[in-house]
Parts: sequence; C-alpha cells; structure tokens
Amino acid sequence: MSRAESQQRPEAPAAGTHRIAPRSGTAFLLPAGHYLTVIDPDGEQVSDLLAYNVDDRREYLSSGRSIDYAGRMFLSTGDPLYSNRSNVMLRIVRDEVGRHDFTLTPCSRDTFRIIYGDTEPHHGCQGNLEMALEPFGIGPDDIPIAFNVFMHVAVDAQSGTVSVEPPLSKPGQRLLLRAEMDLIIAMTACSAGQSNNFTYKPIDYSVDADMPAWAAATPRAGAA
Ligand SMILES: [Zn+2]
Repeated sequence: MSRAESQQRPEAPAAGTHRIAPRSGTAFLLPAGHYLTVIDPDGEQVSDLLAYNVDDRREYLSSGRSIDYAGRMFLSTGDPLYSNRSNVMLRIVRDEVGRHDFTLTPCSRDTFRIIYGDTEPHHGCQGNLEMALEPFGIGPDDIPIAFNVFMHVAVDAQSGTVSVEPPLSKPGQRLLLRAEMDLIIAMTACSAGQSNNFTYKPIDYSVDADMPAWAAATPRAGAA
C-alpha cells in the first residue's frame, strides 16, 4: 500500500459559506474543476493557503515555481499556481483585491519569538496548519511557503527589504480559485499582528462545483 492509500481522504465542504475563526485553521477536499472562494469578511485579514495532491501528498503548491514561471512576485487574475512538480494545481479566476504574498512562511511560534519578542508565543498559522493536516498524513516538515491570500508585503526594489503592511482587502472582498486536480486545501485566519493590522479576524470560504454567480457577473479583469 502506498503512502497516499494509507491516508485518510478529506471531505469536501457542504454548500454555503464557512467561517474560520480568528487564529485558527481548517483543511478540506477541493475536487478538480471546483471553485474555492476566499472571503475577507471584515477586511484587512490574511489567509495562509496550502494545496496538496490528494493522491500523492508529496506534490504541493510551490511558491518558487509559481513566481518563476509568472516572472512576477505578485500573482493575480489569470495566473496559474504550480506544484513542486510543475503541474498547475490552481488558477486565480477572479481577484477583487489584487495583492497577495507568496514569499513568506506561515507565522509560527518562532515568528512570534524572533520577530515579535513574545515570551509565550502563539502557535500561529504553522501550528494551525499542522493540526488541520495531521489527519491526512501531512506533517510539520511537509508545510512549504503558503500562498498568503490578501497579505500585503512591500519590497524595496534596490535593497530587497521586505515589510508587512496592512492588507488592501476591504470587508467582503474575495479571491476565486479553480482547482486543476483533486486537492487537499488547508487555510487559516492568520495569527500574526503585522499581517492583519493587529486585529485578529475570521476568514470565510465556500466551495462550488460551478463558477459562483458573483464571478460570472463580473468581468475577468476584475482586480479592483
Ligand atoms: Zn499567519
């Protein structure tokens, strides 16, 4: 029996909108061809998003390959998100915010210890992703750089200095992704103050077999 066959298969979420509570996370099945809407209900919140091939979990969403093939650090409407094996896992179908990050690792105990100086650090997105993915045989060392939905990282072109700024997302704004293979998706409502302007907020999401009505009604170049 292969590693994948010995592992539990996640369930696809029920119809409707689901909420990820502040500083928590979840994981679910996103079948090929289905649409994932990520919603920032209150504005200025970030969701760390990971994807794994459900049939071989050593294939995962790759920051390096996606940025390399796009030739840009900032990905938006129309861009494919590639795996470590250079297969397209997801495509960005609609983007109402137009700014996301694909360079920084999930916040973690060590983030809060090293950057924030916390003496009793929160487990962060890293801990929430580990807990969400553990039932599916994905361990702490299998967690790569996440696609950080709505995260606003500014980069100085000369020095390369990066700074985490408040997200540009306004209440209710959305990102729509389409799965190109059967995926395990893990998502968080980010636990890092710099990411969400120091107010921990929820993240909403929904999974639909067909393109949601709101997206069908908006033009493709929908970055606002
Ligand atoms: Zn985080």
